[in-house]
Amino acid sequence: MHYFSTNRRSPNANFREAVLAGQPDDRGLYFPSEIPRHDVNFFNGLDDLSTGDLAFQVMKPYIMGEITDDELARICHETVNFEMPLVRLTDEISALELFHGPTLAFKDVGARFMSRCLGYFSRAFSEKTVVVVATSGDTGGAVAAGFHNVDGVEVVILFPKGRVSKVQEMQLTRLGENVTTLELHGSFDDCQAIAKQLLADEALRGKAKLTSANSINIARWLPQQIYYFAAIARWDGEPPIFCVPSGNLGNLAAGMLANASGLPVKRFIAACNANDVVPRYMETFKYRPRPSITTLSNAMDVGDPNNFVRILEIFGHDDAKLAEVFSAKSISDVETAATMREMYEQCNYIADPHGAVAFRVLRDNLDRATGEKGIFLETAHPVKFDSVADILGFESALPTSISELASRPSASIEVENDYEAVRDILVGKL
Ligand SMILES: *Cc1c(COP(=O)(O)O)cnc(C)c1O
Repeated sequence: MHYFSTNRRSPNANFREAVLAGQPDDRGLYFPSEIPRHDVNFFNGLDDLSTGDLAFQVMKPYIMGEITDDELARICHETVNFEMPLVRLTDEISALELFHGPTLAFKDVGARFMSRCLGYFSRAFSEKTVVVVATSGDTGGAVAAGFHNVDGVEVVILFPKGRVSKVQEMQLTRLGENVTTLELHGSFDDCQAIAKQLLADEALRGKAKLTSANSINIARWLPQQIYYFAAIARWDGEPPIFCVPSGNLGNLAAGMLANASGLPVKRFIAACNANDVVPRYMETFKYRPRPSITTLSNAMDVGDPNNFVRILEIFGHDDAKLAEVFSAKSISDVETAATMREMYEQCNYIADPHGAVAFRVLRDNLDRATGEKGIFLETAHPVKFDSVADILGFESALPTSISELASRPSASIEVENDYEAVRDILVGKL
């Protein structure tokens, strides 16, 4: 097995090369040449395994021996050292809560796995590894926490000052040590432009190994399969539907990859906000990226979902086959807010806007006549989004991980929207 580029021009890579490169030079995405198949015995024994052991079994075939089994087991256990409860909300619908990790979002799983792989591979380098990330909120927090105190790795996070939520800001600014957080006087797009320029800076590349912790990196993408396996391990009855709040579609593509490995799932639904490129694709089979629109579920505000090609790849680009097990639906912010209120009133459940989009889409698309049941992924804790208190009319209590952060001083540095100013700070860290 190897990883090939979905654009099929760059050379193939092994696991290590694909993780270190992030993206192939031809701007495609790495994809495994063979999808491992698990047999019936594996699935029958699932509920006897700890989540860490299960993670090891799921990831091992993808690592190609590039990490020793002992190290991989350690990485897997550290990656999923928090609960992922399956909470029943109605007779037909359960929530898979993926927000019990350090930054209260599912991105913790991918970020923790990737940081530890990079820490492992960077032991062989004499120069420092520097991870550069621009974030609009959730990604940066997960990456910062994932890489915090990982030996041999420096992290530089850029976020737009004043444009992330209160909780996200605390998660981004209170770490320190090997994590440098820059509050830029500018927009997310400005942050991203500067991050790209840093990554392409030849003089800097001579001083350190620069890399991004982009969501398309296979070390962030592949471990997202783990919680689909963990959910099925605890599921009784006919295979469920998975409904996934979707932006770049990495999370959903990982679930479909798990399904291609044999994981029993009836079908998948992508739940989208007003950014409806994928729902439109499923009506027309034409891919038309569009500028993103700002919504309540802002981690899903993506106009060109870059992981969608991985889903097409799983189905060999056969749209008819894809449509048998996959659909995509979009709902508005008005519906999202109404659903959050209904979930609270009828199920006594406080959902974040992303989870609410998925709950609504699942509820509206279950075939009750055939007894379908489904699981939606609750991808973030509601306290991460300031809109939740506005919509429900009350503030919820902060989890202890956040109140602890609040007592620490801010370690962030304010910086103008200026490439040289950012570069100087980075050079000072090398
Ligand atoms: C990133 C994110 C999503 C979207 O996940 P994709 O893999 O990009 O589809 C959904 N919900 C939350 C809370 C997120 O942070």
